[in-house]
Amino acid sequence: MEQMTSSIHRQIPPVDTIINSPRLIPFIQKTSRSFIIGIVRRVLNVVRQEISSNTEKEISTADLNKIIFQKIHEEFLFWTEPTLKRVINATGVILHTNLGRAPINQDALEYATEIASNYSNLEFDLVRRVREKRDNHISRILENLLDCEQAIVVNNNAAAVLLVLNSLGSGGEVLISRGEMIEIGDSFRIPDILQQSGTILREIGTTNKTRLADYEQNINENTKLILKVHPSNFKISGFTSQTTLKELSSLSSKHSLPLVDDLGSGCLIDLTKFGIEDEPNPHTSLVDGADIVCFSGDKLLGGPQAGIIAGKSKFINKIRKNPLFRILRLDKVTLAILESTLLTYLKQCPDQIPVVQMIYHSEASIEKRVLKIIQRFSNKNSNLNLNIVKGFSVIGGGSAPSQKLGTWLISLRSKTHSTSKIDALLRSLDPPILARFEMDTVLLDLRTVFPQDDSLLAQSLENLAKS
Ligand SMILES: *Cc1c(COP(=O)(O)O)cnc(C)c1O
Repeated sequence: MEQMTSSIHRQIPPVDTIINSPRLIPFIQKTSRSFIIGIVRRVLNVVRQEISSNTEKEISTADLNKIIFQKIHEEFLFWTEPTLKRVINATGVILHTNLGRAPINQDALEYATEIASNYSNLEFDLVRRVREKRDNHISRILENLLDCEQAIVVNNNAAAVLLVLNSLGSGGEVLISRGEMIEIGDSFRIPDILQQSGTILREIGTTNKTRLADYEQNINENTKLILKVHPSNFKISGFTSQTTLKELSSLSSKHSLPLVDDLGSGCLIDLTKFGIEDEPNPHTSLVDGADIVCFSGDKLLGGPQAGIIAGKSKFINKIRKNPLFRILRLDKVTLAILESTLLTYLKQCPDQIPVVQMIYHSEASIEKRVLKIIQRFSNKNSNLNLNIVKGFSVIGGGSAPSQKLGTWLISLRSKTHSTSKIDALLRSLDPPILARFEMDTVLLDLRTVFPQDDSLLAQSLENLAKS
């Protein structure tokens, strides 16, 4: 046995022989010789290990070579193809954090391509021939949209909260209700952000009730700021009450404390007609008395990842001067996408924004699309069964926790495949399809599938049925 393994080992060609094989020329041309040598070495190591652990099998030199070149090809593709790929989101979660949250509108991307692939007046005033601030392009639109004194932007809303707290509260106490000490998905926890910002947290009230008196009693000479946080991803119901912004506003001005409202999603359009009622509008929040609001660019706004800070000049000027502002600044690609996204709101056509379109889809229009796909799926003999089921889509991404949008779903069943097998097959397609599970059924929600992808989805299901 020992003898045989070592003889197979001897069959493995040396790196030099493989690297000079004409079959590798295209790979070397597309990358470099040293890169391909690295791949060959790794493949040979793997092959050696496989031979050592599989001693019984004999293998011809031709087969061995075939395996080696096959593996080199796979390894080449693994390293030279991007790992980020588009997927079809059939989960019905509109702002799916794992799937990139808000898909960005095509026009905004085309504009960003134009700006980013050329030089631009990013930080330059073309009329006065002087240096300008890069966020001026965004600020003017935001100030108009939110009717506020000033607005600035940073990398994301977590950064916005950190920057605001550090600029206005550092070294002092920040009052926050116990009911608002939240954690948002990917490890954004309010207490941790407060600690990082150099402020001292003063939790007040109880989880379900916090009254104005609780705030008032806790104000002392060290108090620097009152923070309100929108509990984006959960809702406490029952015997609850939180102090409103309006109530807090008179208290904060009496004590000359900035009142900061972290809105999370910050929705600029009225979603009440879709039954979504607990998404605060940044403008309303400012009118109700917040001195500063901050919210995400890639939640309900439907733009790129960004954090928007808006409100009173007195405070924004202080925030601007913080060196952290420079550290957290946006790059030109994001600025261009955000500018274009905000302009669609200014021009009163938010229905050009994919996230908004998805919320606007009526149940009837989704039902029609579902039926069309099911009817097209004529494969009678297939082992895949498609049915229409009533269900709900959610906004997700830490927005509107208790709000659901009625939808129609395609349920997938198979006599031969388990639900997890169907799910795995869907994920292995190109582009992968992400479904959701409910009661051991695989469900596809078309609300989050772009209508122009319906036929691609239908085709993929037909291919799947044949597999
Ligand atoms: C989502 C959210 C954040 C974090 O925003 P990112 O843009 O993800 O950094 C902060 N606060 C609240 C209330 C949120 O909902």
